Amino acid sequence: MIATITDPPSGTGRIRRTSSLPQHISPSAAKSYLGCSLKFYFERVACIRKNTPVALHLGKAVHAALQVFHIARWRGGDDSPDAIAAAYEKSFTDLEAEEGPVNFDDEGREKARLDGLRVVAAYLDSPEAMKEKPRAVEVLLKEHIPGLSVPLTGAMDLVEGNFTPVDFKSAATKPDPSNAAFDHEIQLVSYQLLMEIATGQVPPSLDLVFLVKTKTPQIIRVTSPPADLHRKRRVIALLETAVQGIAAHRYHPQPGMQCSWCQYKNECMAWLPAQTQPERRATG
Ligand code: SF4
Repeated sequence: MIATITDPPSGTGRIRRTSSLPQHISPSAAKSYLGCSLKFYFERVACIRKNTPVALHLGKAVHAALQVFHIARWRGGDDSPDAIAAAYEKSFTDLEAEEGPVNFDDEGREKARLDGLRVVAAYLDSPEAMKEKPRAVEVLLKEHIPGLSVPLTGAMDLVEGNFTPVDFKSAATKPDPSNAAFDHEIQLVSYQLLMEIATGQVPPSLDLVFLVKTKTPQIIRVTSPPADLHRKRRVIALLETAVQGIAAHRYHPQPGMQCSWCQYKNECMAWLPAQTQPERRATG
């Protein structure tokens, strides 16, 4: 869906401003935009490639291994620890080839690889490892949500038999449960919104499972109650704020703690507003 706004002539020149709604919004895109709209621009609009951070690479490889395990549970395939470890190793290598270099230092690759193997093994050995047949794995949903100008999309890692959506997170340190649920509120409530429209079911809870890469890995489930009307309206408003900001090309630095690990500091220092408004130009 595309909306176009054309400003009237102004001053000595004519300025045309176009506003294009994104085709859809996902909770991760909204969280990224709201965290720092300029970083969102560099990553997702200008598509400036950077080396993959080690933690992200490791998280993706672990995620891929868990996906293989859950699909095996779902479809009756090989869910043995050896098969899942092999899936992890393959993903760890394939991602390097497919997504470009990872920010490993000299000994970092081997350490990261072993950290991931340990955390996957810890999950398989934990009470959190899926014992029953899941209802769905890696489910992609796209739904129109009242109050949101574009469809909402979401990819749930796992849906348990009782309709609980579960998202897996790799973490370096043990999460504080109340902060974890708050940090991931947009994602969790978005999943509930999608689930309710797609299935007519209210999930009994919204769950995160953290795979903590401490020396002895820990597997920690954080469970939140389903959202009430107020939480849903708040999250829809946050999603819509991101949609409207993207549509209006509102991208600017939002300095804060996130700058410490931002890979776009050089681009950020060079930024001036005109650089992030490609469709705004003087025509006369
Ligand atoms: S350095 Fe900070 S303000 Fe600049 S783009 Fe990165 S996160 Fe945003």
